[in-house]
Amino acid sequence: MPGAADTAPRGRRLDLSPLRRLAGFVRPYTSLMVVGVLSVAVAGVLGLAFPLVVRRLLNAAFAPGVEAGSARAALDSAVVLLVVLVLVQAAFNYLRTYSLGRAGEAVVADLRKAVFSHLVGLDVPFFERRKTGELVSRLTADVATVQAAVSQALAQVVNQGITLVGGLVLLFVLEPRLTVVMLAIVPPVVLAAAVFGRSLRRVSADYQDRLAAANADAEEAISGVRVVKAFAAEDIERERYRRGIDATFAAPLRRVRLRALFVPAVLLCAFAGLAVVLWYGGRLALAGQLSSGDLVAFLLLTMFVAGSLGTFTGLWAQLQEASGASRRVFEILDTANDLEESPDPVELSQVRGSVRVEDVSFSYPGRPEEALTAVSLTAEPGMVVAVVGPSGAGKSTLLSLLLRFRDPTAGMVSLDGVDLRRLRTSDLRRHVGFVPQETLLFSGSVADNLRYARPDATLDEVVAAARAADAHDFILDLPEGYDTLVGERGVKLSGGQRQRVAIARALLKDPRVLLLDEATSSLDGESEAAVQAALQRLMAGRTTIVVAHRLATVLHADQIVVMSRGRVVDRGTHEELVARDGLYRDLFASQLGATQRASSRKQASLI
Ligand code: ATP
Repeated sequence: MPGAADTAPRGRRLDLSPLRRLAGFVRPYTSLMVVGVLSVAVAGVLGLAFPLVVRRLLNAAFAPGVEAGSARAALDSAVVLLVVLVLVQAAFNYLRTYSLGRAGEAVVADLRKAVFSHLVGLDVPFFERRKTGELVSRLTADVATVQAAVSQALAQVVNQGITLVGGLVLLFVLEPRLTVVMLAIVPPVVLAAAVFGRSLRRVSADYQDRLAAANADAEEAISGVRVVKAFAAEDIERERYRRGIDATFAAPLRRVRLRALFVPAVLLCAFAGLAVVLWYGGRLALAGQLSSGDLVAFLLLTMFVAGSLGTFTGLWAQLQEASGASRRVFEILDTANDLEESPDPVELSQVRGSVRVEDVSFSYPGRPEEALTAVSLTAEPGMVVAVVGPSGAGKSTLLSLLLRFRDPTAGMVSLDGVDLRRLRTSDLRRHVGFVPQETLLFSGSVADNLRYARPDATLDEVVAAARAADAHDFILDLPEGYDTLVGERGVKLSGGQRQRVAIARALLKDPRVLLLDEATSSLDGESEAAVQAALQRLMAGRTTIVVAHRLATVLHADQIVVMSRGRVVDRGTHEELVARDGLYRDLFASQLGATQRASSRKQASLI
C-alpha cells in the first residue's frame, strides 16, 4: 500500500534497511521460506476463488428458468468444489504456518546466538557504558519483535498483496461501476491508517527505550538486593521503578488511545462501504444487470479487499516496530571492539613471565584527570610485586591494563618484552591468571566452577588444585561434594570459601603471571590463615603482581610499589619503606596493620 509511505513526511519514512540485513540470517532457511511463501501465495489465490465458487453456487441455485434437476446437479458440484477448495487451502495454510514459523524460530535462535556471541566478545569498557538490563532486553524483547517480522510480515505482504490486487481485478471484471463506488470508500481508510502508522512508530520506539531503562533499574535492584536491604532502601527502589514504569505507561497509553480510535474508524468505513455497495448493487440486481450470485461474490470480494487494506496498515506498524528492533539488535552486532587485535600477533610459545610497565599513563574516557600518570614497574619472572596505596590511587586501573581490559593512553605494558597490544588477547589471558576481590560463581557444580579456568581438566586435577587451595575439605563437606550446585540457584559459599575456590581455579589454570586483587574485608583468623597459605602455594614459581591489603602479603613481596593519585610515589621492601618517613608508613599504620589487628582480634574473640 503506497498511501502511508507517501503521506509520511520526509525523515519519518519507513526505513527497511535494518530488516534487509536480516537476509543474511534468513538465507540458511531459504527452502523453508520459499515453501512458506509459495504456500501463502497458493492459499491467497485459493482464497480469491472462494467468492467465485459461492457465486457459481448461488447462480446455479437461483438461476431463473433452469430445470430443477440440472440446477441441483450444478449446486452439488459447486458445493463439492467449495469443500475441496477449503480443504486444499487449509493444507496450504498449515504448510505456510509451519514452514514460516519454523524458519522464524530458527532465524531468531541464530540471531540470539550471534548477538550474545558478539556481545560476550566485546571489551570491558563497552559494558561499563551500557546497562545490563538494556543489553538483555535487546536479546529478548527486540529479537522477539524481529521474529514476528520474519514469520508473519512477509507472509502477510504476499497474502494481502495477492488478495488486494487479485480482488480488485476480479471486482472490476464483475462490475466496474460498482467497483468505482466501492473505491470511493477506500481512501478514508488509507488516510486513517497512514496517520495511525506514523504516530504509532514514534510511540513504539519511545516505549521500547523507556521499558529498557525501567528493566535496567529492576535488574540492578534485584541483583544488588543485599545492598538494597542493608540500606532499607526498598522504597527508593520501588519509587525508581514506579517512575520508570509510569514513564513507559504513558507511551502505550497514547498507543492504546490511537488504536482504540483507529479500529472503529476502519470498521465504520468498511461497513459504510458495504452498505453503499449493497444499496447500489441491490439496485443493479433489481434492474436485472446483476445476478444474486454476482452481488454476493462482489460483497465477499469487497470484504476481502477491505480486510487486506486493514491488515496492510497493521502490517505497516509491525514492520516499523520490527525495523526499530532490528536496528537495535544490529547496533550490537556492529559494535567494534575499542581495543584492536594486532593483525600479525606475536606468538608466545614459552612464557617466562617478565612483566614491565613502562611510563604508563591512562585516563578514562570522559574524565579529564589521569587515573595513572607515568607509572613504571618491573616484575622479573618469579618475583612478587605488591602494589599498595590509598583508595582511588589507581591500583585496580593498573591491574586492568595488565589484563589488557584497556590500553594505556601513553607508555607500554609488556610481557616477556612484547607489547601487550602485539599479543593475541586470548593468548595473553591464557598466560595471565587473575584472582579478583570478589569471586563470581556461575550456576553449576563446584567442579564446573573450578574447571572454568580449564574446561578439559580431569577430576583428579580439579581435586589436586582444590587440595592445594585448601578447599578440598570444605567441598567434601558440602551436600554433594564436588557436584554440589553453587551460584545463583545453588548453595552459597562464605567469603573465605569463595576466595579459595578462586585460588583453586587459578592453580588449575597454572598461569605464568598472576594478578591478585586482595579482598579488603578481613576474614576470621582461621580462614585468613587458610587463604594465606593457599595464596603462598599459588604464588610459588610465578610472577605475581598483587594489590595488597594484608600484612603477610607485603612482608612476602620482593618489591612494594606505593601509589597515590595515579603516580608511583615510593618503592622498596617492607623494611626499607617502614624505615622511611613516607606514605607507606602511614598506610601501614592505618590499613595494612589494621587488617592484621582486625584479624587477630577476630581470632582472639573466637578463642
Ligand atoms: P580502591 O583501592 O578504592 O579500589 P584503586 O586504587 O583501585 O582504589 P582505581 O579503581 O584504579 O583506584 O581508580 C583510580 C581512579 O580512576 C579513580 O579516580 C576512579 O574514580 C577512576 N575510575 C576507576 N574506574 C573507572 C571507570 N570505569 N571509569 C571512569 N573512571 C574510573
